[in-house]
Amino acid sequence: MVMGSLRQETELLVIGAGPGGYVAAIRAADLGREVVLVEEREQLGGVCLIEGCIPSKALISAVEVADAAKSAERMGLSFGEPSLDLFKLRQWKDSVVDGLTGGIRGLLKRRGVEVIQGRARFDGPTSVAIDGGGVSGVEFKNCIIATGSRINQLPPGYDLPLWSSAEALTLPEVPERLLVVGGGYIGMEMGLVYAGLGSQVTMVELFPRLLMGADQDLVDVVVKSCAEKFKAVLLESKVVKVDQAGSGYSVTIDYKGEQKKKEFDQVLVAIGRRPNTDNIGLDKAGLTTNDQGLIEVNNEGRTAVPHIFAIGDVVPGPALAHKASREAKVAAEVISGLPSAFDNRAVPAVVFTHPEIAWTGITEHEAKEAGRPLTVGKFPLRALGRAWTMGQTEGFVKVMSDPETNLLLGVGMVGPHASELIAEATLAIEMGATLEDLLVTIHPHPTLSEALMEAAEAAAGESVHINPPREK
Ligand code: FAD
Repeated sequence: MVMGSLRQETELLVIGAGPGGYVAAIRAADLGREVVLVEEREQLGGVCLIEGCIPSKALISAVEVADAAKSAERMGLSFGEPSLDLFKLRQWKDSVVDGLTGGIRGLLKRRGVEVIQGRARFDGPTSVAIDGGGVSGVEFKNCIIATGSRINQLPPGYDLPLWSSAEALTLPEVPERLLVVGGGYIGMEMGLVYAGLGSQVTMVELFPRLLMGADQDLVDVVVKSCAEKFKAVLLESKVVKVDQAGSGYSVTIDYKGEQKKKEFDQVLVAIGRRPNTDNIGLDKAGLTTNDQGLIEVNNEGRTAVPHIFAIGDVVPGPALAHKASREAKVAAEVISGLPSAFDNRAVPAVVFTHPEIAWTGITEHEAKEAGRPLTVGKFPLRALGRAWTMGQTEGFVKVMSDPETNLLLGVGMVGPHASELIAEATLAIEMGATLEDLLVTIHPHPTLSEALMEAAEAAAGESVHINPPREK
């Protein structure tokens, strides 16, 4: 490194300090690499920590406490109507984010990773220029692109101060009438947060169903609970026009071909995200993107330019933090000369609705599209002791296996703590487990984890707690 000059040299440059970039920087430093990490934001941790996974889950936890207090009434416990101190809730959520971003800075410092605040842009295949930092550029031997993604805006013409998930997560207010545009996982989670805080939430979704990536039977359970929490869910609908009306908005919605005008106090737009690949000078590095703006990589995370790697939301695959972090470790290890590959069999996905949805490995609809036969075993939570003791019997676990080998291929769950339970299923798929491995494994009683074992029993036709079909 040339100290004191405005242009530095480093063995490994990582661009972006999200769950992809900061993990790659730490792993590479631990493996002996000299690492410079460039991040344009003041805080480290990327979208996930600052305006994604962490603040959204903090707010969901708060709303769940209120829900739990309410539902305890049938257990004979009454706490009265919850009162909301928005300032305190905001402060608490911010303290969670600050604590974690501070922790990342400490981890990087301890590993000797140099962090430069500024915006990096390739100006050649082995260098970036940096705007806004004390350093004007960095020359590198290897580079990992981890610039993540940003929010998709409504098309031009909607230049009104509408909310994105990022604004909604700052908790500016609790609007009385909130329109959520987009029924993907971000729209669903944010809609449920604001419904829990007291907004009347209307959701508009272009497609005929919510949460397109998940199997319909899992989604059905959540749709039922949303019907109680949301004022309306309008499928096959789209926002045609938004006009400012007083302190709120007048929104024209095309609902199954019929146009309706509705008034809202705030509109939250959650219509997907786009990779940050169009603004980093990729062409100067000799790189291109596919038609979705993503950088194609091999299973080492290596791009078409062999010393440049890409991870996280800028590469194909589910745009999820844990996938970014796994890819980060692989890229750092490959750069350090270790044999490593992203050869994972399953990437779990979770939607933190109430109840939670989680799946891993193959889904039923993917298998159907691929014409792949599956054995499916389902176990309803209403047959599970622990679910009864928690007063939460809505939901089920399903296990999908290969009909010939009984190899576990996928698991889907909807119910309390599905976000935690899916990890066992992911490990089982990763380890090449069969139905028998799952059903002979002793699961502690009474726990929700038994549902996975029970679903495996159902798939194998050996269920103790589900009656066999009656003989005719
Ligand atoms: P990012 O986290 O996007 O980080 C990229 C970083 O690069 C940013 O800090 C950015 O400032 C920086 N950067 C960009 N360009 C430059 C540049 N030119 N120079 C310097 N720095 C640059 N995922 C989950 O797994 N679980 C969840 O529960 C979950 N919830 C979410 C909720 C919301 C509301 C949102 C929006 C997302 C959620 N996600 C969740 C998705 C998750 O946040 C992303 O998949 C993850 O952050 C991707 O990590 P990354 O490292 O690829 O990029």
